[in-house]
This record gives sequence, C-alpha cells and structure tokens, in this order.
Amino acid sequence: MHIPFLDLRAAYLELESEIGKAISKILDSGHYVLGPEVEQFESEWAAYCEAKYSVGLANGLDALHLALLALEVGPEDEVIVPSNTYIATWLAVSQCGARPVPVEPDERTCNIDASRIEAAITPRTKVILPVHLYGQPADMDPILAIARKHKLRVLEDAAQAHGARYKGRRIGSHGDVVAWSFYPGKNLGALGDGGAITTNDIDIADRISVLRNYGSRIKYVNEIKGCNSRLDPLQAAILRVKLVYLDEWNARRSALAQRYQQGLSSCGLALPHVPEWAGPVWHLYVVQHMKRDALQKAFTDADVGTLIHYPIPPHRQQAYAHLNGCEDFPVASRLADKVLSLPMGPHLCFEDQERVIAILTAICS
Ligand SMILES: *Cc1c(COP(=O)(O)O)cnc(C)c1O
Repeated sequence: MHIPFLDLRAAYLELESEIGKAISKILDSGHYVLGPEVEQFESEWAAYCEAKYSVGLANGLDALHLALLALEVGPEDEVIVPSNTYIATWLAVSQCGARPVPVEPDERTCNIDASRIEAAITPRTKVILPVHLYGQPADMDPILAIARKHKLRVLEDAAQAHGARYKGRRIGSHGDVVAWSFYPGKNLGALGDGGAITTNDIDIADRISVLRNYGSRIKYVNEIKGCNSRLDPLQAAILRVKLVYLDEWNARRSALAQRYQQGLSSCGLALPHVPEWAGPVWHLYVVQHMKRDALQKAFTDADVGTLIHYPIPPHRQQAYAHLNGCEDFPVASRLADKVLSLPMGPHLCFEDQERVIAILTAICS
C-alpha cells in the first residue's frame, strides 16, 4: 500500500467543484491577465498576512528577485542568506548581480542563527534575507535589531510559511518585505506557478507592481526596465478558493506533527525543535539521524514516500562552483547528510501516519 509524501490530487479533489466554478468564472469573464480577480486575491492575501499590501507575481523566485530590486540591491551589494536554504533564495540575489553571503543555521531549528549574522556584515551588506524554513518562523526580533543597528533592510523568504506566526503575529510584515511562493506543494498552493509579496511599505509595493508589468503603470509608458511576472488570474481564482481552507489544512498538519512528536519521541531521532515563540505551519516534518540513508531505504522498501530538503546545499552546487572548497559551511553540509522529511500534508490520514511511525520505531529500536 503506497503512502505518498504529499497527495496533491487529494487536495484538488476535496475542493473540485468550488475550483471548477472559480475557473469557469474566469474563462467566462474574457479577462485573462491581471484584473479584478488578481486584485481581490491580493487584498485577501494581505489581510490574511496582517500586512497592508500584497502584489501577485508569477512565482516565488520572482517574488524574491523583485523584492530585492525594490530594495535597490544591485552589483557590488551583499545579501545575507542562510547556508542551508533552497537554492532559490541564493539565485534571487545572484539575479540582481549581488553576492549571497551565507550564514549558518542553528542545527536544532534549521533556521538562520541570528547570533552569527553580525560577523558576516561588511560595508557592502544591504539586506538580511532569513528563510522561514520548513514552516518554522526564523527568530525575527534579533534579526530586526541587527538590521536597525547596521541600517540594513530585511526581506523574508516565506515560501514555506503560509499562516505561520512569530510571537503571535502572522508572518507577512515583520521585515520590510516578505516573498511568497504558491508552487503547488506549498501550504497555500496554486495548480501551477504563482507568487506574491506582502509589505506595509507602500513604496515597495508600488515599485514591485510596476516592475512585474514591464516597468509600466500606464499601458505603453515604461518608467523603468521591468519584466513580465504577473500572477495568472486563473491561479488567483484557485488561490482565493484555497485560502478559505488554509487555516483548517494547517491545523490538520499541526495535528499530524503532534502525533509524530509523541510517536517518535523514543526513537533516537532528532525531532523538530519548536521555540516557545514559534507558531509553525509544518510545511515539512523533518527529522535528523546519522543513518538517514538507511532510514530512507527502509521507507522506499515499504513503499512510503520521503524526501530530503535539501540533499546538496547551495555552496556545494555546480551553480555556485566558485564557492566549492573555498568556503566551508559545515552545519549546512552536516544537515544535508542527516535530514529526512516524513510524509506530511492535509490529506495524510492517521492510519497511514501510524504505519510511518511503526516503520521508524521498528528500525530505530
Ligand atoms: C519554493 C521555494 C521558493 C521558490 O518558489 P517558486 O515559486 O518555486 O519559484 C523559494 N524559497 C523557498 C524556501 C522555497 O521553498
């Protein structure tokens, strides 16, 4: 009996008729780029995130890239990034011609270790770019304090953190600007690509909304060299349907996470560590074990899907070959060798989760 890592089809089928109606409405409207549906989603998403503004974009990488451009990051600048993130965080910096400067994570939370940030700051540093990895918020207060002290801006990569809270307040406007992805597998996922930014800064929101549309506010009048990165109204319509269910689906993830925490407590695994100020949304449930490869093989043999987030840290990728060997990020490298993401999602049933727990308990005891 196969247990998938994440069942996207089940997520679609739960909302099939509502999504069908939402799509038909757009097809029937005759309006297929930007327009009222995208604007509706933007205002609903901003409200959900407790932020003033949101701008819908084509994907999460563009959200990061355009946010950095809006913060005026360019060649010669440096941006502080986690050493253990998905490569998109780094690529967005590289796309601006700037240099990603990696800072190691706390090995227990897997989020950027704020106490290591100041040592990485140089006169060229412009932005700190924390990632709320696995749906756990990064420790924002010390990051914001460092940014204030050194006059830096803060961009948050919240691609895995839809609905997460930091000290009770939703992720969405702690930093200057927050980048979101609606890639299908995210907690709020479209049925295709999608992205957005949220911010309380009207100038940043305005700059990004001009950048995403050819640098144009008025048709055929181009103020700046922009790009085409508009959120598709079909995806906006789907996202509006799914946003209504986000809290409920996150609650299901949370119940699963609690059961994992209890069921696996005596397995000799390092389980996710949740600081008392964190309201995580369990985009991923990631355990750590020195014999990770053997555990993953046992799951594969039992027809259970697991994944590794991420098997090769950015500094060891060919894309960043100039860093290979020159700079070492041992925490990121060690995490890449021992993390394992267990099945997690709003459509994982308790019986299947019991089997996952039983498999781990059997090998680890
Ligand atoms: C998914 C993801 C992105 C990129 O999102 P896309 O929509 O796929 O471009 C960026 N950062 C992190 C941490 C992600 O998980």
